[in-house]
Amino acid sequence: MTPGHEVVGVVQACGPGCTRFAPGDRIGVAWLAATDQSCRFCRTGRENLCLSPRFTGWDVDGGYADYCIADERFCYRLPSGIADEQAAPLLCAGIIGYRALLTAAVPPGGRLGIYGFGGSAHLTAQLALHLGMRVHVLTRGEHNARLAAELGVDSVAGATDQPPEALDGAILFAPAGDLVPVALRALDRGATLAVAGIWLSDIERIRYDVELFGEKVLRSVTANTRHDGEKFLGLVQRFGIRATTRPYPMSQADRALADLAHGRFSGAAVLHAG
Ligand SMILES: [Zn+2]
Repeated sequence: MTPGHEVVGVVQACGPGCTRFAPGDRIGVAWLAATDQSCRFCRTGRENLCLSPRFTGWDVDGGYADYCIADERFCYRLPSGIADEQAAPLLCAGIIGYRALLTAAVPPGGRLGIYGFGGSAHLTAQLALHLGMRVHVLTRGEHNARLAAELGVDSVAGATDQPPEALDGAILFAPAGDLVPVALRALDRGATLAVAGIWLSDIERIRYDVELFGEKVLRSVTANTRHDGEKFLGLVQRFGIRATTRPYPMSQADRALADLAHGRFSGAAVLHAG
């Protein structure tokens, strides 16, 4: 399997029956490569929960390559005026962050908490600010804290600190289960914590009285629908949301991963072909 999702490229050739794109079009290939479009979830507008989905770089060859093949029904036309390097992180980090923001169900002008601040969170924070939310970032790592402050969020504090006000909703981007009770405690009554990661370390304990009672909601976020993707890319265009990126040549993919693991940059690492 060739790994790599969040692929930006130019259509070289179209298979029989393709109608959406033509050679020369710049498109994005996202995490969701295909769904069966027939299961009970696909039939009810919830293809993110499809029972037999296929994912880019996981079930079908991905973008660590000069060329790749994608089903045009799951590709995106990218907003104009955004460089390839800026567009790539929108395609999974961005879309998932958007779905997490919807899941957190913060009302207009409401108070959002963001736990962990990397490739996905820094896009979601911009979106939330444009939507008029008050945004509180709880994160570790000086690069992450600095980027959050530069983007103009309302407060930045350590990952286990309490935000300055109760939250109407929160998103956990860090894959740290021990932050779940921390974030639940920061929620106001009736608020939702959305867990955005595809993987999370075990949650050791949730105290019902102070962490869940009061109709607090704990929900995961699983993949996305194409509708999510189209809506998000429209908002990116409308608000001028920009990814903070760190470019690497494809040959240094291992260094990009090591730098990410050690918190040597914030935002998203992007690999260039060639
Ligand atoms: Zn399905």
